[in-house]
Amino acid sequence: MCGFERGLILKLDTFDEERFDKILGIKGAASGVYRGLDYLLQAGYGKRLDGDNTRLAFSIVPTNLNIDDIEDVFVFAMQHDIFPSIGELEQAGVAVCEKRFGELDIGEKIKNLKLKMDKLWGGSYCRPMCPVILTGLHIDHLGNCTVDSETGLNCKWFMLKEAKMKEIATIRECSIDEIFEKVKKNKTDLFEKNFESINEYEKVEHLFGGCGGSPKNIIKLAKI
Ligand code: SF4
Repeated sequence: MCGFERGLILKLDTFDEERFDKILGIKGAASGVYRGLDYLLQAGYGKRLDGDNTRLAFSIVPTNLNIDDIEDVFVFAMQHDIFPSIGELEQAGVAVCEKRFGELDIGEKIKNLKLKMDKLWGGSYCRPMCPVILTGLHIDHLGNCTVDSETGLNCKWFMLKEAKMKEIATIRECSIDEIFEKVKKNKTDLFEKNFESINEYEKVEHLFGGCGGSPKNIIKLAKI
């Protein structure tokens, strides 16, 4: 579960307990997530605070394990004022280390899923952009500020692959304002140096997007 301002994100890939346990890799883990969801709904997280914002999102990753369950999760979310945040499977972590990407990847089935979600959503559905990529700071557990070594952006998970991060400053030696300045200068330099490869990212349009949103929109905004 991740937190963001006034809201929470809950990983919820399916309401089928057995399949969700398999996805989470721990027997009994799914029931804990479902219990957590009940508590959140009882606490009022299923209602909007104002006219615009939901306070709870589901992080949903379609794989061959849960492809038939996505519609149920999506509909449940919409009925409870929860944002259904569908992100594509990343070529990273266990999926790559344990060579499971091929077995989990839904391949061309994603096109049909997108059509179904657009219909339920009532328009073109896509994962929203994560503001941290352009406007935040990524500080690791040691207090170091890290950025993507190629683009200088705070995060590059939107490419659905593990980013190569590099340390650019530490909170032990720099103020937050100084870190923001360093990040900004580094990003400007890298966008100039690597403009050809970065321009290629601007052509990438995922159907749903990964963590962070669509590369095309992110790079377009980052250039401003
Ligand atoms: S895009 Fe990056 S910073 Fe944003 S939620 Fe995903 S991992 Fe975190």
